[in-house]
Amino acid sequence: MIANYHTHTYRCRHAVGDERDYVKRAVRAGLRILGFSDHTPQDYFDSGEETLPIRMSPEELPGYAASIRSLAEEYRDRIEILLGVEAEYYPKYFPRLMDMLRANGVQYMILGQHFLGNEIGEPYSGRPTRDAAILGRYVSQCCEALDTGLFSCFAHPDLINFVGDPAIFEREARRLCRKAKETGTPLEINLLGIRERRHYPNERFWRVAAEEGCQVILGYDAHCPKELADRRSETKALKLAASCGLQPLETLEIRRIGTL
Ligand SMILES: [Zn+2]
Ligand SMILES: [Zn+2]
Repeated sequence: MIANYHTHTYRCRHAVGDERDYVKRAVRAGLRILGFSDHTPQDYFDSGEETLPIRMSPEELPGYAASIRSLAEEYRDRIEILLGVEAEYYPKYFPRLMDMLRANGVQYMILGQHFLGNEIGEPYSGRPTRDAAILGRYVSQCCEALDTGLFSCFAHPDLINFVGDPAIFEREARRLCRKAKETGTPLEINLLGIRERRHYPNERFWRVAAEEGCQVILGYDAHCPKELADRRSETKALKLAASCGLQPLETLEIRRIGTL
């Protein structure tokens, strides 16, 4: 890989390393582009709900942005550094989320739909389910997100863990892949899933993605700096892609939502 757009930092409370640690590792690993996409802060505004402890707080966003901005300048001659977030699409909060991200100069977003609805009271999308209604909701919500045209790629689209009827899974996977194709949004084969032997990447999903002619990209989804040189998972992901007939992109065409 010469570019990675899926990188977390200690700010999300379940990763280690600060921005500089990741940049140094990326340079050593020979990456030409390093995009930071820590979990977006999620403000529930007047709901009175506490933010989930899996991401930075809204108050931490300016510090995250400032740190990346200064590293981008410092390392300008060695590596291209981008300021992004892994954002959820929660219809109720999305317009205000966009205002917050733009006000802080966030350049791009990748979609990571870890919860449904507006997050509050919803189970993790990766929890096993046989319920076709949950699968359908996931796909519909992600399609709506892709229709905004704001996401540069879709991280682990196969995070939904449907263990019911394979025919239903294939039908819904196809609906999602067609939307990705229609909106020109690359789908990410997630290397964290490979590293941690999670239920994704899901080969059944990627076969459908290939049939639908989707674009794909690999993402380290790094939660610690050394994962920016995780060649083992990269090799496995490339094998999976090749066996499905997919040729991953080397770089993303960033859909700029703001200026650093
Ligand atoms: Zn994620
Ligand atoms: Zn991630």
